Amino acid sequence: MPEGTAALTPRTAPDALIAELKSLLGDRLSTAAAVREQHGRDESFHPVAPPDAVAFAQSTEEVAEIVKACARHGVPVVPFGTGTSLEGHVAAIHGGICIDVSGMNRILAVRPEDMDVTVQAGVTRKQLNEHLRDTGLFFPIDPGADASLGGMAATRASGTNAVRYGTMRENVLALTVVLADGRIIRTARRARKSAAGYDLTRLFVGSEGTLGVITEVTLKLYGIPEAILSAVCPFPGVAEAVNTVIQTIQTGVPIARIEFLDDNQIRAVNSFSKTSYAEVPTLFFEFHGSDAGVAEQVEMVQAIAAEHGGTDFQWARSTEDRERLWHARHNAYYAGLSMKPGGKGFSSDVCVPISRLAECIVETKKDLEASALFTAVVGHVGDGNFHVLFVFDPDNPAEVAEAKRLNARVVDRALAMDGTCTGEHGVGLGKMQYLEAEHGRDALDVMAAVKRALDPANIMNPGKVVGV
Ligand SMILES: Cc1cc2nc3c(=O)[nH]c(=O)nc-3n(C[C@H](O)[C@H](O)[C@H](O)COP(=O)(O)OP(=O)(O)OC[C@H]3O[C@@H](n4cnc5c(N)ncnc54)[C@H](O)[C@@H]3O)c2cc1C
Repeated sequence: MPEGTAALTPRTAPDALIAELKSLLGDRLSTAAAVREQHGRDESFHPVAPPDAVAFAQSTEEVAEIVKACARHGVPVVPFGTGTSLEGHVAAIHGGICIDVSGMNRILAVRPEDMDVTVQAGVTRKQLNEHLRDTGLFFPIDPGADASLGGMAATRASGTNAVRYGTMRENVLALTVVLADGRIIRTARRARKSAAGYDLTRLFVGSEGTLGVITEVTLKLYGIPEAILSAVCPFPGVAEAVNTVIQTIQTGVPIARIEFLDDNQIRAVNSFSKTSYAEVPTLFFEFHGSDAGVAEQVEMVQAIAAEHGGTDFQWARSTEDRERLWHARHNAYYAGLSMKPGGKGFSSDVCVPISRLAECIVETKKDLEASALFTAVVGHVGDGNFHVLFVFDPDNPAEVAEAKRLNARVVDRALAMDGTCTGEHGVGLGKMQYLEAEHGRDALDVMAAVKRALDPANIMNPGKVVGV
């Protein structure tokens, strides 16, 4: 939400810096208004804050030269992948130079024998999986958008597969990073485990461009499962659906995807994606494994669901049917927005310990049902993570206030359950206001000390994540 937004004090890039970058990059430095505007916005309602110029980098060394030039002039640097983040992450609230790494889109090495890959930061997740198609391997992390792997590392992204394969935190083996003074470091080797010193990889994963620019990412890969089966099952109520999830996780079924959509979200999906699901609380499932393994998982989950009134499973077996199902799920955000023409949306992103999930969603639904706003609940519930999409008229102060009020209640409830204000979208501008309540002042001071140590002049995406 707009509160928590740092004061807008642009440090305009001086002409000398623009000239220096122009001579380094030629046409790959743009000061065109449309390009700047496109790079000052993400996919959320947060106001646009264009950078002074956009530098389209092509190599780690070039990023280092750009950062060194910005550091000499004390000008902010905002890294940019594909701009699909949701919390004002890329807004250049203090002006400066946006470094767009989308042109750094080379897959540098695929090592099937080690089941890992090294890519430049601008490679997107779909591009990587397309490239891997003939190797029998895949990269599972799937935020709905086709985000860059550098951006996904920077936001510690996850998605529908995280319940089985983990998040970017578990799947990044090493990073190449350009620091705020232009030095280039590699955070780790490719060993699957290491006890060699502080874990710099995990420091930069989730740092949202505030500590350095990620230029290369080494990732774990997985074998494409022998059998994949997806399903949709309606439930008599929210509690029944969510309790099915909790029991599935507690039983240890290695489910690959288990996603909750409430009645409003299903209504929006039906209208947007031309599907015809029953408009009631629903779970989307996916099972990965050997034929026998999938059959066993299906049997266990069907038995658990039946105990909670979920019996009407619709199966998607072919690749085409599965893709249609997950395409509808991945478009849930835009489906929700389409329910109010001209409306803007923002999405809460809380995550709670799994045993508290049913209580958290049921209590939240009571709040939502008492409100006149259009809201929809969708979530990666196997991880305890769910989103409430609030759709409102940005020019109607009463609707904006109502969205803020409801959102604050969701966050407070999750924190009271020992959860987090953001399971995957990250902090950006929108979640800064909750970090003290979540971590406490002392822990936040430690984060600020790390920021000051690595970026003493505060040029890396300033005004985001942690105030200094
Ligand atoms: C429809 C939709 C569904 C989504 N669903 C999910 C979901 O299920 N799970 C999830 O986790 N997210 C989800 N997201 C959010 C979004 O896709 C992620 O935040 C994504 O990981 C951001 O990647 P990006 O390349 O777009 O980064 P950007 O938006 O370009 O940047 C995001 C942040 O990372 C920094 N950054 C980008 N590249 C670099 C780099 N190379 N080095 C250092 N910092 C960098 C930026 O400065 C910024 O702070 C969704 C978004 C949309 C629009």
